[in-house]
Amino acid sequence: MKKIFKKEFKRNDLRNLFLYGYKEHLEKASKELEITTQPTPHMRWNPSRQEWVTYSATRKVRTSFPPQEYCPLCPGAELNFPTEIPFKNFEIAIFPNRWASFNKNNKQMSIEGLKSQPSNGECEVVVYSPNHKDTIAQMSIERIELLFNAWSDRYINLMKRDDIKYVLPFENRGVECGVTLHHPHGQIYAFPFIPPVIQKEIEAFRKENFIEKLMKNLEQNYYVFQDDYVIAAIPPFARYAYEVWIIPKRRLAGPWQFNDQEYNSFAIALQKVVKGYDDFLGRRCPYIMGLHAAPTLDDTNFHFHMEFYPPLRHGDKPKVLAGSESMAGVFIMDVLPEETAVELRKFMS
Ligand SMILES: [Zn+2]
Repeated sequence: MKKIFKKEFKRNDLRNLFLYGYKEHLEKASKELEITTQPTPHMRWNPSRQEWVTYSATRKVRTSFPPQEYCPLCPGAELNFPTEIPFKNFEIAIFPNRWASFNKNNKQMSIEGLKSQPSNGECEVVVYSPNHKDTIAQMSIERIELLFNAWSDRYINLMKRDDIKYVLPFENRGVECGVTLHHPHGQIYAFPFIPPVIQKEIEAFRKENFIEKLMKNLEQNYYVFQDDYVIAAIPPFARYAYEVWIIPKRRLAGPWQFNDQEYNSFAIALQKVVKGYDDFLGRRCPYIMGLHAAPTLDDTNFHFHMEFYPPLRHGDKPKVLAGSESMAGVFIMDVLPEETAVELRKFMS
């Protein structure tokens, strides 16, 4: 594994911007964005669904942002306006989201008859590349390995904090999934509680490792890509026609436990999946992608995996979460995962 450098740059708002790279980052900073007013989000308990909802209604207008034709995630020193990354160049950058839904601002709300509490935690932006037009489908495998290493480092540091109970790196891709900035990037949400979907998974893995139990079947019938260490497959229980999971073949709590070979295999698999989706659709495929890791660094039950939900049914017809899915949480499928796996395998293997 090549040596990885990490630079911590203290921003003008005293928060840290992290730069990860194979080369040491020695460049001096150019003009930074103005200090923005921090949002003061809070959470309210939804007693009907028994889950938290977070409210960040005080999100201020983006006053200090560069004009629309300038991308706020491009390297700022090359532009006439400051951006989030005040340098000429970088490899991967991670910094606090200025419009966080979870932060340390500790706003107390009181709503009669309802439980509420401050939205502690952290929200970060992960910029995959300095190149505006890059996508995971075209990046070098080395760069994607660096991305996994950066995720591991953020997991390790965020999970040490007492106010954080779960760390979720994710990516929304495409306008269909609500993205307005096309610069390749994802986010990290560090929640002050274990989110309900993850809580269910933790309980499932505590009962049995359902991934291990399915592995042989995935390897034979449901894979879209695999090597000796990693498998990408449409799970036989998928809720989206083209849902793909990328899974290490041995149980690992999270990417922080990868060996060099697994970093490499995961980078290759991630690229195969994203490029395969794009080739399959004949355009940049929209998706929601998330890393599902254990809630603690030394967990011994949870089996790490990445999940992709492209909002598609039958090729490019959009999947809408309608009555049954939204109101009852019951997904209605009109294609079988064993069929869509064969379809996607042609583009991903
Ligand atoms: Zn850009």
